[in-house]
Amino acid sequence: MKNLTTLTIKEALIGLKKKEFTAVELTEAHIKAAEAARHLNCYITETFDLARKQAKESDARYAKGTAGLLDGIPVAMKDLFCTEGIQTTAASNILKGFKPPYESTVSANLWRDGATMLGKANLDEFAMGSSNTTSAFGNVINPWRSKNHDKPLVPGGSGGGSAAAVAARIAMGATGTDTGGSIRQPAAFCGIAGIKPTYGRCSRFGIVAFASSLDQAGPTARTSEDCALMLQSMAGYDPKDSTSVNRPVPEYSKSIGQSVKGLKVGVPKEYRIDGTNPEIIKLWEKGVQMMKDAGAEIVDVSLPHTKYALQTYYVIAPAECSSNLARYDGVRFGLRVEGDNLVDTYEKTRAEGFGKEVKRRILIGTYVLSAGYYDAYYNKARSVRKLIWQDFINAYQKCDVLLTPTVPTPAFAIGENMQDPVTMYLNDVFTIPASMAGMPGMSLPVGLSSDGLPLGLQLLGKPFDEETVFKVAHVIEKAANFTALPQSLMSKAA
Ligand code: GLN
Repeated sequence: MKNLTTLTIKEALIGLKKKEFTAVELTEAHIKAAEAARHLNCYITETFDLARKQAKESDARYAKGTAGLLDGIPVAMKDLFCTEGIQTTAASNILKGFKPPYESTVSANLWRDGATMLGKANLDEFAMGSSNTTSAFGNVINPWRSKNHDKPLVPGGSGGGSAAAVAARIAMGATGTDTGGSIRQPAAFCGIAGIKPTYGRCSRFGIVAFASSLDQAGPTARTSEDCALMLQSMAGYDPKDSTSVNRPVPEYSKSIGQSVKGLKVGVPKEYRIDGTNPEIIKLWEKGVQMMKDAGAEIVDVSLPHTKYALQTYYVIAPAECSSNLARYDGVRFGLRVEGDNLVDTYEKTRAEGFGKEVKRRILIGTYVLSAGYYDAYYNKARSVRKLIWQDFINAYQKCDVLLTPTVPTPAFAIGENMQDPVTMYLNDVFTIPASMAGMPGMSLPVGLSSDGLPLGLQLLGKPFDEETVFKVAHVIEKAANFTALPQSLMSKAA
């Protein structure tokens, strides 16, 4: 039999329907691959027995002809999604051992449609980071290696475990959350696809909160079509999240294969920033050419406030995180370190439970929200955020979608960019503007750097127009024909 881990979700669904193999066989193949790739540290908690049980149930549905949209597809669940009775840590010591009494809406939607869960994927602590090196459960290792040195590389972050699992073929797809780039940047670093839909498209209910006005769930998978299938399942209105939007979920996979003739693709000049790897600029130009070849029209656009997006994000995101993380006090759930009195218990619990990066963000957030600085920082940042949003709305008067690079560099070695937090924050310079504006954004693998590492391009769409993003994504994907595999998989390719 063909190695089942090489299939896309779409191919696997066809095979399952035709009874070429069973959901149990598909899940077992991924469990075997996951066991062989434990050194990558993708999963904080493995749930193989649950996956086996779900796969059996899935086979029964195939036999009865009642299979759902993703029936039998084994996925990884970012460990930020609450899963009932299964440890959910947010990669933090403060939540070690926490078993939520309820299920997040997004994960519940995936189970409703028949997906099976292989494990809870590693991430940066509380989704704060760009390298998966802030996890209390250890670094995740990118399955890709540079041709020029032997150092292990970061998978990106915060969704490093999700992206590495999909790239290493130990999960067919994975959930992610994107606050400032955590789906798109790891997707680019690991040579896979990932989409952050419009803010409000997926419910945030049951997702451990980082920055509530920015957090948005989305899928990572190996193709745009697989992402479309997963998003269709994950998205939808949820009365339990007041910011989830009540509008029907389109059949996203219908966008796959549609023509982009006459479509207007905007190229924002502000995304040509200093420090971007010249290979990435070249790749961007290649992407523009691919769109022209497919009959799209290229238009120059300007997003003048983009240059303030990163700075503004690092006021708003820490502000919201300092408020959201106030609940971890050792009283209700998670870690508790006994002190001499209540305040001492709070302090000891939080000092021991949170890692360095999380503490840094809480301190920044508390500072910008403090009485004397609220207007100067927080309110100012909110005004600038509005201008960033307005830039996008103006640009979309002239074009249907924007094409940009995803990240300024390919994956870097573990330990690099660690001395100075600002260097690390710069990773998200291209992803954060759309997060601030709430627009949908997708990263696609388009080429390789000269040292053999994946490079991604980003598509940004109009609010709730993920369909156009998928349409364009598929065209780029076909033109780019990205078939490269992480070195560790080359010998195993079927
Ligand atoms: N890297 C960014 C940060 O550290 C974005 C993280 C995310 O999207 N969750 O805040």
